Order: sequence, then C-alpha cells, then structure tokens
Amino acid sequence: MSEQVKCLIIGSGPAGYTAAIYAARANMKPVLYQGSQPGGQLTTTNEVENFPGYPEGVTGPEMMIQLQDQAKRFDTDIRNGWVTKVDFSGPVHKVWIHDDTEIHCETVIISTGASAKYLGLESEQKYLQLGGGVSACAVCDGFFYRNQEVVIVGAGDSACEEAHYLSKLCTKVTMLVRRDEFRASKIMAARVAKTENIEILFNTETEEVLGDGQVVTGVRVRNNRTHTVHDIPATGFFVAIGHEPNTAIFKDFLNMDETGYIKNTPGTSKTNVAGVFVSGDAADHVYRQAITAAGTGCMAALDAERYLAAFEG
Ligand code: NDP
Repeated sequence: MSEQVKCLIIGSGPAGYTAAIYAARANMKPVLYQGSQPGGQLTTTNEVENFPGYPEGVTGPEMMIQLQDQAKRFDTDIRNGWVTKVDFSGPVHKVWIHDDTEIHCETVIISTGASAKYLGLESEQKYLQLGGGVSACAVCDGFFYRNQEVVIVGAGDSACEEAHYLSKLCTKVTMLVRRDEFRASKIMAARVAKTENIEILFNTETEEVLGDGQVVTGVRVRNNRTHTVHDIPATGFFVAIGHEPNTAIFKDFLNMDETGYIKNTPGTSKTNVAGVFVSGDAADHVYRQAITAAGTGCMAALDAERYLAAFEG
C-alpha cells in the first residue's frame, strides 16, 4: 500500500520551508523531504545579512534551523531522504523515495533548488568549506570584501553582473576569462570593460586559490596561451561559472528551458502539470536569493491550497 499525501514538498531550502509553513497553517498536512543537502545552498553560506528580520545578521545554517523549527511548529512532517523518481503522467502524482517507497500525492511542490558550479580545485573547496573567502554569490557575500581586492572567475552574464556589483564595493576586481572573449551579452561585457577598477585577464585560468590555512590571500593564475603563471593578491575568490538546477528527475514530465530550469506560468507557481507547483531556484536563474525563494514558496503553497479547494468545492 502506498502512502497518500495531500501536499508533498520536495526540498528544504527557504522555498521548501516557507511552502511548508503556509501549507501546514492551511491544514494541508504537508510532508517535506529534505533531500541530500538538508537546508539547501544557505548551509554553505556564512553570514546572511540581507534577509529582512535579522538586523544583526544570521548564519546560513542557523537561519535554516529556525525555518525548519517554524515549519515543525505547525506540524509539518519533515523527513530525511530524497526523491529519486516521479511519475506525473496520471491524475495521481506518484513520487518514489530512494527508489522503493512510493507516495501518492494530491499536490507536489518542487523546491529542489540549484547548485552553483565550482572549478573543483582542492584549494577552492578547502577555503569554501572553511568559509574563508570562496563564494559563488557576490550579492550574498560581496559586502564582506568591501575596500578589499577580489578575483572573480567566469565570462557569462552572471560573472559580468557580479563583477560589476563587486566593483562598487571593492577597490579592485580581477576577472578571469578562460577564452579570448566573453560569453556574456555585448552590453554586459561592455559595462564590465569600461569599469575602471575591473581588470579583465583573457585566456587566463585558475591554478590555485592561495591562503594562509584559514583565509584566502591570493589566486595563482596561468595564461593558457603563454603558459606564464603569476599570483594576484586577493581576499575573496568569487566563482560565477553557472548554476545547475536540481531538476533532472522531472524532465520527462515538466516543461523546462534548455538549462533545466522549470517553466512556470508567469506570476504563479504553476507548472504544465495540474497540481504540481514549483518554487525557488529550480525555476529562477535570475534572482536566486533566499528571500525570493521564500516568496515563491509562499506562492506555491497558496496555489496548491486553491487547487485543492477547487476539487473540494
Ligand atoms: P553561463 O553558462 O552563461 O556562463 C558560464 C561562464 O563560465 C562561461 O563564460 C564559461 O566560459 C565560464 N566557465 C565555465 N566553466 C568554467 C571553468 N571551469 N573555468 C573558467 N570559466 C568557466 O552562466 P551564467 O550563470 O552566466 O548565465 C546563465 C544564464 O542566465 C544565461 O542564459 C545568462 O544569459 C542568464 N543570465 C542573465 C542575466 C541578465 O540578463 N541580467 C544575469 C545572469 C544570468 P566559456 O564562455 O569559455 O564557456
């Protein structure tokens, strides 16, 4: 016998927990599966200073525990485990946990988020884990590097946008572009090129993130044409080489863009499948903030509630 669930929430970032708080308070008895990274991307962030309601700031992991506690307070059934398969082809939405436990859902809220891509260098991962100066979000962490020198890697629209954002806070931004041209739109690339305190190094790749064992002190780079190597002093290393939405398990059923972001009906959280809703970064490659994810989590719960109410008359 498979379990019957009124509202299943997949994912435990700000979108998932906010959806849970709203769904639980609307008596939808939500069940939330936390996924492989309980708490989501914010658990890899140090300090969150831009989420309204925390005048002193809060650490990412602490904020996620508070959101979880708030969801629990209204009796959300929060479970460890992750969804490995779905079938949205019929009137009942089927979801499998670890390939074996089958759940039948009246509504599903997808809040599986996206993962920032990293270079994969050992030194990069070391300082990322230490919270010592490696970041994939300039809007989140740029403020900590004001009046300092930073390096950013990437050449797409995100990298250009983030480099420009950082240039307003930092004394110098060095941008590492691995080819001899940008991938970004002409207008974004031009804006970066004419910003005085941004230096662009083309044909340049990261060899190593340098540090003192605790924090980043510089970046060793190599020109891939001349093979010359040199060190750039920096206290922050920003990686802006793209994100990957965690949506692969839904691809046979939901409309997505070419990168895998789920398409929603504009102004709502509705997907192309009735009763399946999406919130947070799984559908958002533009804003990607905790507060916008929370906002769309709220929308998804309200949309799910209205969907159920239409059936119940
Ligand atoms: P993109 O995939 O567009 O760009 C990724 C960039 O990272 C590329 O320049 C790529 O280099 C570089 N890169 C990838 N791997 C490495 C590596 N190992 N070392 C060095 N560089 C690497 O991702 P974005 O996040 O920039 O953008 C995603 C989408 O979102 C795009 O469609 C973009 O247009 C859109 N967007 C729009 C914005 C806006 O309109 N305001 C703002 C932000 C994003 P290479 O070019 O050599 O492959």
